[in-house]
Amino acid sequence: MGKSSKDKRDAYYRLAKEQGWRARSAFKLLQLDEEFNLFEGVTRVVDLCAAPGSWSQVLSRVLIKGERVGRAGWEDKQAKEKLALAAERTSGGVQVDNVREDVTPVLKPRENVRIVAIDLQPMSPLEGITTLRADITHPSTIPLLLKALDPETFDPTAVQASQPVDLVISDGAPDVTGLHDLDIYVQSQLIWAALNLALCVLKPGGSFVAKIFRGKDVDLLYAQLKIVFERVRVAKPRSSRASSVEAFVVCTGFNPPQGFKASLDNPLGAGTRLERSPSMKTERTQPYRVTRPDGIIELELGSEDEDEGEDIRWIAPFLACGDLSAYDADASYHLPKDHVVLDPVQPPTAPPYKKALEMRKAAGGAYGKTKLG
Ligand code: SAM
Repeated sequence: MGKSSKDKRDAYYRLAKEQGWRARSAFKLLQLDEEFNLFEGVTRVVDLCAAPGSWSQVLSRVLIKGERVGRAGWEDKQAKEKLALAAERTSGGVQVDNVREDVTPVLKPRENVRIVAIDLQPMSPLEGITTLRADITHPSTIPLLLKALDPETFDPTAVQASQPVDLVISDGAPDVTGLHDLDIYVQSQLIWAALNLALCVLKPGGSFVAKIFRGKDVDLLYAQLKIVFERVRVAKPRSSRASSVEAFVVCTGFNPPQGFKASLDNPLGAGTRLERSPSMKTERTQPYRVTRPDGIIELELGSEDEDEGEDIRWIAPFLACGDLSAYDADASYHLPKDHVVLDPVQPPTAPPYKKALEMRKAAGGAYGKTKLG
């Protein structure tokens, strides 16, 4: 596949390079923000699975620099072209710049912004962002994160942030194998880890956004999230290919059960089943919250043997997001003859495939004697 062929088949890939984003994923966050206004009043954010860093770039531009990104920023060119065309047909022309300025929100840099980004892979520095190289599924990452959030007041024995954050975002994805069940399982472990970190750092009312793969049992996840968040929705941005099982849970209004304590060893009391009180057996609209003697709240979704035939599933509302004028991620677009193919803004610093390529080279090519992995 030629370089310009990728530009043609993936409008967001091309647009990301034109606008200086490190990855096309930036548009997913921008389109989620368009729909859910995620950044309103937000100053403290944790970006999980953040490399190469396009989501952190969005945070940096909006919160730290107060730049105008989002609908008015990235669609300006396209919108102006359309408006100019429409104006030509009707009144013979209009000053398009003025039309857009009227509806463009003007942002200001915010004060006391703190953004921490974590990834397994190294990430090139970004202005105003603290980056950590760590595994979000490992308990040792929690103290690292707490220290990065509040270096002055860090208490090594604490499991909860002294100054909690407004928003936790996670775009985590494993190296996809193509075996759907396995990929969905590994992805679910990442979401679980991201949620556990969010429980340690989110302030009441805070928000959590995470990539999910919509598999067979994804409604179990929605029900679990519904225990700690007031609103749980699933969103598919226009920049995410319709052919992909990828979507994003957007959870707002963090409201953990009373007495809830984050735990490193036993997040959400997973793995332990407790007796339910008789009154709880009659409540079927919400998953159960059970408080253990040690104060940890366990999530309980009922069991099939007790509730034969009863449907305890909770289906989250689904929203397609991104303005209709935005590019379609599955479509190919005509490129002008003089189109210049740009290099990626930030090539991966240590891509996992690099070692494989080195091994293949050492073995004398694709059919060499050394087996990979
Ligand atoms: N949001 C990023 C951006 O905008 O540039 C793109 C994220 S990329 C789709 C998925 C990332 O998840 C990869 O960089 C990968 O290293 C990271 N990842 C996967 N498993 C992880 C783990 N256990 N801990 C930390 N990061 C992980």
